[in-house]
Amino acid sequence: MKQYRYVLDYDLSMPEMIGKIMNLPEYKNGYKGILQLVEPNCESHEINKDLEWLNSNLTNLDIYGMTSHGALSRETHSIPYKICSVIFFEESNYRIDVFDCSDGLTPSEAGIEYQKVLSKLEDVKGVLMMSSDFALCPEKFIDKINSYDPKLLVFGALAGTREMGDDRSKIFLGSKIYERGILTIAFMGKNLFIDHHYALGFKSLGKELTITKSDDKGIVYEINDKPAFLIYKDHLGVGMNDYFFENTSSFPFYLKENGHPLARVALDYHKDGALAFATEIPEGSKVSLSYSTAYMLLKESFDNAVALNVFTPDAILIYCCMSRRMLMGDDMAELEFEFYQHICSNATWSHGYGEVLHADGLRGFLNASLVAIGLREGPVREANINFEEDIRQIYLEKYNDYSETGFLPLSFRLVNFLESTTKDLRDAVDQLFKVASLDELTQIYNRRALNYFMKRFIEKISGYNGIAVIMVDVDHFKRVNDTYGHDVGDMVLRDGVSQVKYLFTQADIIGRWGGEEFVGIKPNITKDEALDFSEMLRQNISEIELDIVGHITVSIGVTMVQEGDTEVSVFKRIDDALYEAKETGRNKVVFK
Ligand code: GH3
Ligand code: MG
Ligand code: MG
Repeated sequence: MKQYRYVLDYDLSMPEMIGKIMNLPEYKNGYKGILQLVEPNCESHEINKDLEWLNSNLTNLDIYGMTSHGALSRETHSIPYKICSVIFFEESNYRIDVFDCSDGLTPSEAGIEYQKVLSKLEDVKGVLMMSSDFALCPEKFIDKINSYDPKLLVFGALAGTREMGDDRSKIFLGSKIYERGILTIAFMGKNLFIDHHYALGFKSLGKELTITKSDDKGIVYEINDKPAFLIYKDHLGVGMNDYFFENTSSFPFYLKENGHPLARVALDYHKDGALAFATEIPEGSKVSLSYSTAYMLLKESFDNAVALNVFTPDAILIYCCMSRRMLMGDDMAELEFEFYQHICSNATWSHGYGEVLHADGLRGFLNASLVAIGLREGPVREANINFEEDIRQIYLEKYNDYSETGFLPLSFRLVNFLESTTKDLRDAVDQLFKVASLDELTQIYNRRALNYFMKRFIEKISGYNGIAVIMVDVDHFKRVNDTYGHDVGDMVLRDGVSQVKYLFTQADIIGRWGGEEFVGIKPNITKDEALDFSEMLRQNISEIELDIVGHITVSIGVTMVQEGDTEVSVFKRIDDALYEAKETGRNKVVFK
């Protein structure tokens, strides 16, 4: 495998580049190859001209590409050059597909089509994916690849647009331009190996927040039950004006997906306070604002480059967010690429609306990140063992190493300050939460918290397919105390709870209502399912072997939350159910 990169600046024209490519030994020898064109120009007739040149002259190559992202702010510089990257394959192969979504084909439907393509291919090691605009959610497409093969690596980018707020992003393949489409290249071969790295470097700052109202199109209406925009207004002092994106994009929302940190950049706001993102942030997600410094961003890329060097790639493809450039400045952003060019001198890069990586539990869509992909044919070669020192020198030539001189710029100290303040704040909140909401003996929610959750469930009843409330009371518990003493009674409650907890799911709420009475709230459940669950719970508890005491039994009252209920009416019904269970013999379940 061999990679060549051409930056079409003032020193190199398109015809000159074509001449150079035609003279490459691999081209002359007829190797199979791809040419990735990243176009800063979004005018179709301009792109057509380039495609015509490339297609009519470089007939041995498959030409594909996307438009790239322009400047994010009035201060950031975008890259005005076309960047071409050619990769020739010797021992491996590829297959290119494109899904035209202009007639309403959805990313999910395209994904199903692509499953069929993949099922006919062998030794697929990774898929490059480009989509023409952020409304074509890459995660919906990738979910289908995931259901076909959860381990298959997918990487790439969403095309960008040169003017902020004016989406004219496009992808292209051969001589065709797609305003709405998804392009894929499956790379395959027994001797092909692909390595991937993902750098973010943002720090989660401030209060942890909960997305309380959002939809699957990427609109977040409410955070902590208030209009989402207020987060930016209250924390950054940002207003609803033309500078929204510039003011907020370096403070992306930060969340975790399967343990990996992710950033989500708000693209726009609505007058009613909703925020628009390129992908869904589901209700219940825990987020915070985040920030970073150039140094912190660079540090992760530095470490990733050191790791990628060991892989000894033949080719490197980088997909990077313009927001990094905004935070780092042009020089540092270039330095980030230089690290990778020191591994492969022809490493290529592009900027889009978002980066794509489906690997290690990441679902696909990224923001504010740098995705570096290494491709290699054949076994690992001897890596440059001086690499880390070499790139450190490249870095030191341009910047002081603050960790060595001891001086820290103000921005670094401020971020450190925010980070440690955040930690203090979150520790205090955790502590307060425990004291205010948890029952000391059993470490599940207390009555106060149960009332709070009950109220929330009732308010949002229309968002659930049924909510069941279950109350459990230990039978003849006084006898336990009278026979064995109060301490043993406490132990029964503590151990009993810890052995029953696992029967509930994460979405369920369980707490101690008082004494030896416990409440469980189960959302998205039918009456029959709630009764089956309660019966199973009763049975399980009766089978637990407790120290000293042996077995206990419980009585259970169950009810379903109804339209028009209040906390008082729900608990009244459930009390009645429990009373009836006790009156009619105990160790049973009664529904009211
Ligand atoms: P029933 O089957 O009718 O429920 O009989 P019971 O004996 O369980 O009666 P009831 O539920 O009315 O009584 C609750 C008893 O639980 C009263 C008290 O002795 C005991 N209890 C309440 N809180 C605690 C606690 O925190 N620790 C201990 N050890 N016992 C408690
Ligand atoms: Mg009781
Ligand atoms: Mg009791």
